[in-house]
Amino acid sequence: MAVTGRFAPSPSGRIHLGNILCCLLAWLSARQKGGRVILRIEDLDIARCPRRYGEQMCRDIRWLGLDWDEGPVIGGPSGPYEQSRRTALYQAALRRLEAQGLVYPCFCTRKELLAASAPHASDGARVYDGRCRRLSPQERAALWAGGRSPAWRGQVPAETGSFVDGNYGPQAQRLDRDCGDFILRRSDGVYAYQLAVAADDGAMGITRVVRGWDLLSSTPRQIWLLEQLGYPVPAYCHVPLLLAPDGRRLSKRDRDLDVGYLQAHSTPEKVTGLLAWLAGLQPRPEPVQPRELIGDFAWTKVGAQDKVVDEAAWQAL
Ligand code: GLU
Repeated sequence: MAVTGRFAPSPSGRIHLGNILCCLLAWLSARQKGGRVILRIEDLDIARCPRRYGEQMCRDIRWLGLDWDEGPVIGGPSGPYEQSRRTALYQAALRRLEAQGLVYPCFCTRKELLAASAPHASDGARVYDGRCRRLSPQERAALWAGGRSPAWRGQVPAETGSFVDGNYGPQAQRLDRDCGDFILRRSDGVYAYQLAVAADDGAMGITRVVRGWDLLSSTPRQIWLLEQLGYPVPAYCHVPLLLAPDGRRLSKRDRDLDVGYLQAHSTPEKVTGLLAWLAGLQPRPEPVQPRELIGDFAWTKVGAQDKVVDEAAWQAL
């Protein structure tokens, strides 16, 4: 089957080393199979992701030597490629789920949610106890009449969602106990990440999702959504995270690791060389271009271990 991969960065700032690693591995994983790459800008929260950040992100990804076959700037048949312009698709997806009885309004306030959910043992995410699912028609009507605007939740079954990750192996999650009924549209009208990603991956014909393992636990619910929406389910390969020597996750807050700093102090080949070395794709952090890595790319080299960016790594830039 033809491979279609994607990068799906959120432009809430400049991209940083961790995002670049995901983009590089997504690109290599698709290109090695002769596949296509779609760039999608995940700017759902337009207040945090102004459009100029998305445009900057496209320039930054090109600077690294990565290209895409469909996406902003060049267009393509499954556009638009900014989530902020795709709300009609999310609305249609929500309606489709609603027509199957899989959606209900949730009127809980933030305070009520804290009381109505328990932190999940494995990752601290809160699992909603489904109290608005159990409202009687009269109670629901009274809440509507009270004028509070609800969020909309997807009603998950008491089933196990499982898949085999291309890098992390077999995964399983009880949708009701480990995840719970989750938000599809916030009370302020913004569509939730889970719905938007599933609707987009489905509509864009994505066959391979490559992204940080911090999203591993979101995957069973995205697969569930894709199935309910009638889309084929892609393959998933999650990517190790980059850590500081003290074990902290590198993030956008580490300003010196964003691409603006890298452009001022390094070259795209050095950045790619460093990441390829950290990811086990070459024995030394030597400068390299992404296309030189295509031939020998393998997930077995990358592995599941998070990667520490230490002083030796810095020297390579
Ligand atoms: N937009 C998300 C991020 O930048 C990635 C979402 C995904 O790959 O599914 O972290």
